[in-house]
Amino acid sequence: MRYISTRGGASPQGFTDILLEGLAADGGLYVPETYPALNEDRLAALRALSYPALAFEILSLYADDLPAEDLRAMLGRVYNARVFGSEEVTPVRTLEPGLHLLRLSNGPTLAFKDVAMQLLGQLFEYVLARRGGALNILGATSGDTGSSAEHAMRGKARIRVFMLSPHRRMSPFQAAQMYALDEPNIFNIAIRGVFDDCQDIVKALGGDLEFKAACRIGAVNSINWARIAAQIVYYFKAYFAVAREVGEPLAFAVPTGNFGNVLAGYIARRMGLPVGRLILATNENDVLDEFFRTGRYRVRAASQVHATSSPSMDISKASNFERYVFDLTDRDGAALRSLWEGVDQRGLLDLSGGDHRRRIQATGLVSGASSHAERLATIRRIWNDHGVMVDTHTADGIKVGLERRPQGMPLVCLETAQPAKFAATIREALGRDPERPPGYEGLEARPQRFDLLEADAQAVKAFIRARAG
Ligand SMILES: *Cc1c(COP(=O)(O)O)cnc(C)c1O
Repeated sequence: MRYISTRGGASPQGFTDILLEGLAADGGLYVPETYPALNEDRLAALRALSYPALAFEILSLYADDLPAEDLRAMLGRVYNARVFGSEEVTPVRTLEPGLHLLRLSNGPTLAFKDVAMQLLGQLFEYVLARRGGALNILGATSGDTGSSAEHAMRGKARIRVFMLSPHRRMSPFQAAQMYALDEPNIFNIAIRGVFDDCQDIVKALGGDLEFKAACRIGAVNSINWARIAAQIVYYFKAYFAVAREVGEPLAFAVPTGNFGNVLAGYIARRMGLPVGRLILATNENDVLDEFFRTGRYRVRAASQVHATSSPSMDISKASNFERYVFDLTDRDGAALRSLWEGVDQRGLLDLSGGDHRRRIQATGLVSGASSHAERLATIRRIWNDHGVMVDTHTADGIKVGLERRPQGMPLVCLETAQPAKFAATIREALGRDPERPPGYEGLEARPQRFDLLEADAQAVKAFIRARAG
């Protein structure tokens, strides 16, 4: 499998070549040249496989430049009960007939990002060991990404992590998950500022090519193709767990921020999985809901981003969206490039005219948005009716999923985090503390370790230069 850039200006490369890269050289995102298609017989043959065996069947299509035994070994080390709490890895819980919860958040940091990030840790270590050299991962987080990356990369030779987070602006649980890590290769940099300040610093340093090359800077943000590929697997796993027979269409509801998770579902559908409808849910930051309702993608200014009680979906633009739009243009790099000039210059992409609406519909995606009040009501309702506590992001997905599911089609709602991460809102909804899985008791009381810096790119640069591997 070779990978091309959405903007048509980079030469095709293999999986391991793009693994450590962020953007392609022409500013686009890497996508596979084609989506491999699986027919019904092939799907039926995958049905009974364990998670790591299924992951091998899917991922070996995309990572075909890795020796099969090596890929199998990495998948076996990641997708097991020791890391994810059960052999199923992503178990399905049925709330009532036709309504299911796909539990993706049983990894080390209790958010779905672990499913892909744990594999990324293995892949990075593997490729660096073969090629030699070191990698310094630079990122910014508002909560879930940073802890997931740190827990995936901890203790890895050749890898150091420099993670910027907004000082005192994460939930106490999220902060503790990062700052209580005591690992020599993990550097937590708390910035006096907000998340956008952290992101701006990462962007500024990313544009400094001399620094990037000298310090061998890499990224683990959600545009990384390997993360998307790893997320395709659990759509198959959930489908096989829920569908009565291969061929029956299912609907999936996906709480969405940067369009990574739902993109993986879209690709599963392109590969032939009978996904009847993909239901994308946003919170009050509804840039994507607006697009799927109107065909107009209107990027928000940072000052217009609402700080919500589902904070991992608080985005101004969706970084993976370009991969989806590339397909809407029939994979025309030149057309995509001119559309993104419009995004960069006017903050607008307009696909409301012509035959675009029909094309968008044909991809199976629909959308809706959820407010704070609706989030609370959904958390209450799922607790009262089913005795199950869901987190705020998952609640957004359930709320929109129930509204937009086709009548009679079974609905699978993706659980993207555990309620323990967002205790304050759970208390507001239910008047009680969230359940906390074993092993996380007293997390916030553990000693914390971080460096506090001003929101100043030069200061961060000097910090990294002095400590890069
Ligand atoms: C990251 C995250 C999301 C959004 O996922 P995307 O892939 O960015 O769309 C939703 N919920 C939780 C809990 C997250 O951590």
